[in-house]
Amino acid sequence: MSLLEVKNLRTAYHSKGKAFYAVDDVSFEVGEHETVGLVGESGCGKSTLGKTIMRLVDPAEGQILLKGQDIARAPETRLRPMRKSVQMVFQDPFASLNPRLTIWSMLETPLKVHGVKDPAERKRVISEIAETIGFSPSVLNRYPHEFSGGQRQRIGIARALILHPDLVVCDEPVSALDLSIQAQILNLLVDLKREFGLAFLFISHDLSVVRYFSDRVLVMYLGKIVEAAEQKTLWQTPRHPYTRALLASVPSTDPGKKITQKISGEIGKPGGPGCAFRSRCPLAVERCATDTPALRKMPDGASVACHLA
Ligand code: ADP
Ligand code: MG
Repeated sequence: MSLLEVKNLRTAYHSKGKAFYAVDDVSFEVGEHETVGLVGESGCGKSTLGKTIMRLVDPAEGQILLKGQDIARAPETRLRPMRKSVQMVFQDPFASLNPRLTIWSMLETPLKVHGVKDPAERKRVISEIAETIGFSPSVLNRYPHEFSGGQRQRIGIARALILHPDLVVCDEPVSALDLSIQAQILNLLVDLKREFGLAFLFISHDLSVVRYFSDRVLVMYLGKIVEAAEQKTLWQTPRHPYTRALLASVPSTDPGKKITQKISGEIGKPGGPGCAFRSRCPLAVERCATDTPALRKMPDGASVACHLA
């Protein structure tokens, strides 16, 4: 049984009186201790997928199986144990930290909520996690504004880890940080993954960051997964024309380096028949406008949604 299994997930938003699926029939799994990267251009639905898994946004259709239990429609009362085992780290560490709370109380609250009654035990756990993220206990009585962006993201990470989750959803955890700080935070996450045996869903628009971090990678385009493969396979044998275009726009393997070359053409509209990428695809044929390509398994285990693959 996988730690997380998402099946045919759809999430709808309403825009200008019309509904559209920001996440459209998405299926994938995350195994124990596995890091799955989720990559795609801004606006393709990565954050919506992450938030839907966290049940911060409700799905319209599909299943979200956490250790075999479907939480897609579970009421809030049944979500509490799940909230302990799945945690999220957000892009903007400043916006995601309550400015009126000291770091200490921010870390203590989840422990209280989840029944750690002994204050001495809470103190022990908080000191331990502070050390893990490289903070001395003496700074914990400070407020978020007293820290730099990188330090605030360390706090966001500590808050996500304090209940020892099984899965951490990281949504662009380094995108808001300076390049020099990005590598530090990524290294910290790699260390924590080893130390805590965590599984990650690691979201980024930046393929070089995802590459650095992931065992397996999902490529998303307009709400759909268009390619899923082992990290190495994706690099050696990218199959979807969109994946190839993304790879071509990554200038180097250094994490955090900026994409220099943009993919040309309009991103297109969600919904309708055919392949959503066809308007930008150099290989598109007639069939791409009429048949929606399904995600097909390749002999090496990769999956790709392209008629021509
Ligand atoms: P990403 O994280 O990949 O940049 P998002 O999940 O944030 O993408 O957004 C996916 C799509 O859904 C975009 O078209 C975005 O404009 C739209 N969207 C995101 N949040 C909302 C919302 N709360 N209401 C309506 N539309 C939204
Ligand atoms: Mg996003």
